[in-house]
Amino acid sequence: MGRMLRIGLTGGIGSGKSTAARLLGEAGFPVVDADQVARDIMDPGSPVLEKVAEAFGADLIDETGRLNRGDLARRAFATEAETEKLNAITHPAIRTEAERRLTELAEAGTRAAVYDMPLLFELGIDATMDLTVAVVADVDVRVRRLVEQRGLDEEDVRNRIARQVSDEVRRAKADVLLDNNGTLEDLRRQVNTVCEQINALS
Ligand code: ATP
Repeated sequence: MGRMLRIGLTGGIGSGKSTAARLLGEAGFPVVDADQVARDIMDPGSPVLEKVAEAFGADLIDETGRLNRGDLARRAFATEAETEKLNAITHPAIRTEAERRLTELAEAGTRAAVYDMPLLFELGIDATMDLTVAVVADVDVRVRRLVEQRGLDEEDVRNRIARQVSDEVRRAKADVLLDNNGTLEDLRRQVNTVCEQINALS
């Protein structure tokens, strides 16, 4: 049995990263979703949740032990220092749990698995992947999709995009680019090509 191929998938907000992850999942590659991991590590009773409550207020946890995510976001994203404080608690925990899940997949004999991680390049996690895939699309296209299909606020979306690394960085760093300026069918075709590449490598 060979070593499992680790594929890092990333993309800016509204790029279509989740859509690409879903397509890769449907093609048979297990996907570890960093956003899901980020939620799971703050399940009721978890040590991470305890640290978050210590740092940001015990009132963030309701009587059933659940975290009020909206209130945490308001507190943690109020200033850069507060954001860093939250990241210092959550990022190492996300990394450890994602690694645990990838290791579990590898030990189960999986040939190739996807790690869907928005901060793949920002946190240097790309260095731990065998292949990196970035979904890119023009800012205006991303804004339009998020405003029209998800009902998000345009200014808010533009601010969030401005705070992430640019597609220029993603284009420079990724092994494979998926251009999602076109239709979903265009994206699907490109994902199929990536699947062939993965199968050839694994
Ligand atoms: P986020 O990080 O904000 O969750 P994302 O990068 O994961 O975003 P998706 O959720 O996959 O992006 O896509 C953003 C929106 O654009 C969704 O509503 C999705 O259905 C839609 N979308 C994705 N690709 C296309 C496309 N090629 N044509 C039209 N709509 C698309």
